[in-house]
Amino acid sequence: TIKIMNVNFINATKDIFLKNHIYPSLMNEHKQFIVTANPEIVMKARENEQYEQAIHSADYVVPDGAGILMAAKYMKLPLQERIAGYDLMLDLLEFVNDKGLSCFFLGAKEEVNEKAVLEVEKRFPNINIAGRHHGFFKLDDQELVEKVQNANADIVFVALGLPRQELWIARHSEQFQKGIFMGVGGSLDVLAG
Ligand code: UDP
Repeated sequence: TIKIMNVNFINATKDIFLKNHIYPSLMNEHKQFIVTANPEIVMKARENEQYEQAIHSADYVVPDGAGILMAAKYMKLPLQERIAGYDLMLDLLEFVNDKGLSCFFLGAKEEVNEKAVLEVEKRFPNINIAGRHHGFFKLDDQELVEKVQNANADIVFVALGLPRQELWIARHSEQFQKGIFMGVGGSLDVLAG
């Protein structure tokens, strides 16, 4: 990893990161928390201690944004590749589809969430949709945590925007036995079209 502004970024290409770290975790049901961090996230972590702790609790922080790569280069610690959250999500969906694994889609407005999941079902028919829920709830809503727990998904995509998505994952992570948890920002909106 390479440390930029107190955040440890993974220094690998997207393909190597997935192949060496995430796919094995998926197959072994090893719980992981991935943050795809752009400069906005790094700045937010600097101003909000709770958020900084959430980012520090992640298993992997990947550099999502030209600004992060530029900062690394400036520090003479060049990163291999920008890893965009949306691209990572699409690769994960493809892998999950190949293996017939399951996903939970948490976040965005109800109609966007519904449309995004329909789109996933259309494009990745072999994915098991473990469940879905819109993103407008209180961060400590325990009923919602239980709903996600009961779904027992291999991947939980969390689209609640910043800082909510990383705070939700960090706050509830201990209550889960397995799952790749990843904040995906506006990705459900993109999928819904
Ligand atoms: N969102 C949500 N709950 C909230 C706030 C935002 O589900 O309380 C969703 C929003 O509908 C969108 C996604 O989070 O689908 C990303 O939101 P936005 O682009 O505002 O956040 P960013 O990550 O760009 O700050």
